[in-house]
Amino acid sequence: MQNSEDLFARARRIVPGGVNSPVRAFGAVGGTPRFMAAGQGPYLTDVDGNRYVDLVCSWGPMILGHRHPAVVEAVADAAAHGFSYGTATQGEVELAEEIVSRVAPVDKVRLVSSGTEATMSAVRLARGFTGRSKVIKFAGCYHGHVDALLAAAGSGVVTFGLPDTPGVTGASAADTIVLPYNDVAAVEEAFAQAEIACVITEACPANMGVVPPRDGFNRRLRELCTAHGALLIMDEVLTGFRVSAAGWHGLDPVQADLMTFGKVMGGGLPAAAFGGRADVMAYLAPEGPVYQAGTLSGNPLACAAGLATLRALDAEAYAKVDAAALAVGDAAAEALAKAGVPHRLQRAGSLFSIFFTDAEVTNFAEAKTQDTAAFTAFFHAMLDQGVYLPPSAYEAWFLSASHDDEALSRVAEALPAAAEAAAGAAAAAR
Ligand SMILES: *Cc1c(COP(=O)(O)O)cnc(C)c1O
Repeated sequence: MQNSEDLFARARRIVPGGVNSPVRAFGAVGGTPRFMAAGQGPYLTDVDGNRYVDLVCSWGPMILGHRHPAVVEAVADAAAHGFSYGTATQGEVELAEEIVSRVAPVDKVRLVSSGTEATMSAVRLARGFTGRSKVIKFAGCYHGHVDALLAAAGSGVVTFGLPDTPGVTGASAADTIVLPYNDVAAVEEAFAQAEIACVITEACPANMGVVPPRDGFNRRLRELCTAHGALLIMDEVLTGFRVSAAGWHGLDPVQADLMTFGKVMGGGLPAAAFGGRADVMAYLAPEGPVYQAGTLSGNPLACAAGLATLRALDAEAYAKVDAAALAVGDAAAEALAKAGVPHRLQRAGSLFSIFFTDAEVTNFAEAKTQDTAAFTAFFHAMLDQGVYLPPSAYEAWFLSASHDDEALSRVAEALPAAAEAAAGAAAAAR
């Protein structure tokens, strides 16, 4: 681990916390974050030459595994032509066509460079279109680090126990109404009390761990938005093109007015998008009055990586992701059960996470009752045995189509000892 330790020490001198995105610092689990040097298929290799089965997959984008030949070739070809022109390019048209053809509610789409930009722009557009200010979001749903959407966000915000974040002014948070997830009555109540511009929700939340919408919850949001003249924004930055060819929409076809995408659609390079109803998207500059722009939006390399990834994601690839997720989730739950560790496996399509608690988790408050000390012990035991899990109990585990039998059996072999470690930590806490 010496090289990772040295790099982390160097990094901390000049980068806050030594990382460029907080969860990477291992703050929640302790220890030295591993600096990665390479990836191949389902494996990562760190700067000390240690090899890991990767269950993070760059938080989702590497759904084909690292260095998929078709993606490498597409990016190399794009790079051979030029990196960025600040003009329109053919690749952007093709990527947009691919998205529109897959996701029915998306008539028109605008490319950006991060999921944060996508949700920020979608909310601005919804406000511009409706002429209203208030936004409903759900506690535990993460929509990137947009000021107005950081209130009670999941992901790194909860990992670090920040209830909200300094620097977000009262004014920018004042128009955000935060409600408990899966609580229809709370949404009805909010609509009765205020004029709402939009409801933004993760199509299936996976940033507080995986907390599927109750049957009919998304449909009810649709009805309420329609009844009150508000827009429904489905954030599929994480689920889009991962849980099916059409993302969560393919499993739970609720018609959103706007949708946001990222992660998989960039194939590991920075690309994201927001899109939806033609009449709403027509409000966007240069067609309409709502401004939005980006120097690197639709970057040729990112479009090439995203397009090659989406084109390689056929039914067989999705079946492999599904099978790998099923196998790892089941094996982990079995090992924890054998070791007597309270846990709850929650699945939604190929998404899953394990909560270290034995009750069902339907919202953020319930997610926070889990035993994070047990997770920490589990995480480090897996890491020591060469399995790279998300370094937080509040994140989904990510599989790829490249997780073959060998990779899956490495995970299975590591699980019993990790479950025993979790049992030890759980016992110590009691
Ligand atoms: C990752 C994520 C985002 C933010 O995307 P970035 O590219 O990290 O800015 C937004 N929404 C959801 C649901 C996400 O999972």
